Amino acid sequence: MADLLENLNEEQREAVTSTEGYVRVIAGAGSGKTRALSHRFAYLVNELGILPGHILCVTFTNKAANEMRQRIHILTGDNDTGYISTFHGFCVSVLQEDSHVCGYPKSFLVLDNQDIDQMLKMIYEERGLTLRDMTFSRARDMIEIRKTFREPMYYHDLIAMSLASLKQKYDESRAVSDIIFYGYLYQQKKCFGLDYNDLIKFTLFIFSRSEEVKLKWQKRLEYIMIDEFQDIDQLQYDLMESLCGYHQNLFIVGDPDQTIYTWRGANGKFLTEFDAHFPHVKTIMMMQNYRSTPQILHVANSLISRNVNRIEKSLLPRNAPGPKVLCTHEDTAEKEAKWIAEQIRSLESAGTALRDIAVLYRAHYVTRVLEEVFRQEKIPYVIYSGVQFFDRMEIKDALAYLRMICYRDDLSFLRVCNVPKRNLGEKRIRFLKQKAEEEECTLFSALSMYREDPIFRGTKAREFLDLVERYNGDYAGTSISELLSSLLDESGYEEALRTEGSQQRLDNLAELKQSVFEYETTCGEEASLENYLTHIALYTNQDVAETGNRVKFMTVHAAKGLEFPYVFLCAMNEGIFPSQKTNTLEAMEEERRLAFVAMTRAEQRLYLSEAAGRNFDGSPRFPSRFLLDIDPDLMEWENRPKERLVEEASHYIDSSRKQLEEDARRVILEPGQRVKHRVFGEGEILSADEKQKCYQIQFRGMDTPRSISFRVKMEIL
Ligand code: ATP
Ligand code: MG
Repeated sequence: MADLLENLNEEQREAVTSTEGYVRVIAGAGSGKTRALSHRFAYLVNELGILPGHILCVTFTNKAANEMRQRIHILTGDNDTGYISTFHGFCVSVLQEDSHVCGYPKSFLVLDNQDIDQMLKMIYEERGLTLRDMTFSRARDMIEIRKTFREPMYYHDLIAMSLASLKQKYDESRAVSDIIFYGYLYQQKKCFGLDYNDLIKFTLFIFSRSEEVKLKWQKRLEYIMIDEFQDIDQLQYDLMESLCGYHQNLFIVGDPDQTIYTWRGANGKFLTEFDAHFPHVKTIMMMQNYRSTPQILHVANSLISRNVNRIEKSLLPRNAPGPKVLCTHEDTAEKEAKWIAEQIRSLESAGTALRDIAVLYRAHYVTRVLEEVFRQEKIPYVIYSGVQFFDRMEIKDALAYLRMICYRDDLSFLRVCNVPKRNLGEKRIRFLKQKAEEEECTLFSALSMYREDPIFRGTKAREFLDLVERYNGDYAGTSISELLSSLLDESGYEEALRTEGSQQRLDNLAELKQSVFEYETTCGEEASLENYLTHIALYTNQDVAETGNRVKFMTVHAAKGLEFPYVFLCAMNEGIFPSQKTNTLEAMEEERRLAFVAMTRAEQRLYLSEAAGRNFDGSPRFPSRFLLDIDPDLMEWENRPKERLVEEASHYIDSSRKQLEEDARRVILEPGQRVKHRVFGEGEILSADEKQKCYQIQFRGMDTPRSISFRVKMEIL
């Protein structure tokens, strides 16, 4: 027990032992907030005797949740680690228990992007749409935006309307976006599928419908703790407020300098104005940084102090000095990647493990060059964001087999019924779809019903049916890893890969089995197939099984809350970081906070790099303003950019800043105002969207309103 408080400073101890009421920790990067949070969990369990299942601990990513679970397991020695999850993950727990309140079965599906694409594919086929009408990724965005901003009450339809009425709405839709949107809702309802946008809404809906259910959860969760509170959004806030209503024990930690999700609706005010909304809030500050060398901290402080809209606070280093932050300018992105590879080689020969090195970047596309060079140089790496492990074809296939056993849903069916080839091609699938429609059943049931139909002669439909039916509810006694192995074996899936000679894919499947096995070991009795599938469905891009001794590549967003001994922050160029899309002063400050988050991930040494070249629009590429923000004495340069380039860059940055300032001063037009657009002509402003920085304008002679950016100059009539 002594251990629990021993390795904490005074403020952390106070945070850990202030268990009752509303407590807020505001503190800088690496000051031990997350550490205080996990120790507090252990303190509640070990000292106060609270059952872990009565504590909700919310983290920002699944990766963070897994790490937290392991830490707490070590501290408490208890296998039951309660609700340690993301908001989304927690909502899945609520829904698994109480989805009946909104008429959904317990076996609802959590949809990921691939599932959504499958549904889109069906809609496109049915309605003759092509990717030219809208790409899948745009369609997904459109659905999200529509659910978030335009039709925030959509879920009432999803819950209340019958499948037939949703279908009718879909059938009656004419505009492309309506077809896709209502087609998607229809598909969702058909398989009781919920996407990320739905989870919190459905949970709030359940609480609003059933006082009894709400009270049950409120009573159960005696203590609530939330990490990374600066990035909470309105829905999450509402959920949290509702959950802590009974016991009123809420502990939150955050750092206003690390707010990096306002573009997705997060609002730092929830943290800074927390004391105005809850009674008797105790606020604890932590000023010391335990993570980084003074050299790294000075650089990060020097950068973030350039933000105007910010509460002044500096991080004080605790750790011993290290080498200066190392920077370089190169002529091309390829040379920059080579430089990084070289530095990594020399770190390696000095005894650093590759897994202790992270390469961070603002935008996914930066990895292409990095990957090429790292492959040439034979430096092993793993990408934590972008196309990653759980998005690979063979992994999705394998998981679809598991889902098939569990849910027999249409999505999984379509994914695996003909993989490996069972001669169930398009014609037969069309037949099944029609029958399923007529009988109002799943594709699997339709196949089962019509298995004797001549259309299935000469196919391996029967083998597939047998395979799935063999495991019919009878997998309870088998471990998931065994189940997975026998499915991959008996389905002939692995055999087909072997015939193709796809060793890489077989290796990935082996990796999947290993990760299932690890999951079972950490979860113990909780490791049911349903739980595993839900757990996997919640995996986001930043989550990859920790594998081997490899350099970690990830976006800065994905690196949030993490730390690495060595950090390379690359492609520090105008147009990349800050991103090309940064079009307001606030957005620019958010980009700077993002760079700050990136730098404060480093423990021992930080490397910054950039390269000349051309942007996508052909303009020359300048060093990032964030590099120029930093006091030059704090950095060591390997190759300095030429004096002239720096001058040109400063000039460019200056004029870009002035443009942003001018835009900020421009009065925002009120709804009702009439304007004239250069191309679209006269119109009336219907609304202004501060977040998207655009107006909805109804132009004369157009059927629907259009979104026009604030930046576009229009004549005011
Ligand atoms: P971020 O804002 O980046 O999420 P944080 O405030 O959550 O950072 P932690 O991750 O909890 O910081 O801690 C940073 C590092 O400092 C960790 O390696 C942690 O183990 C270490 N640390 C925290 N508190 C102490 C302490 N009192 N003594 C020694 N090491 C500490
Ligand atoms: Mg943290």
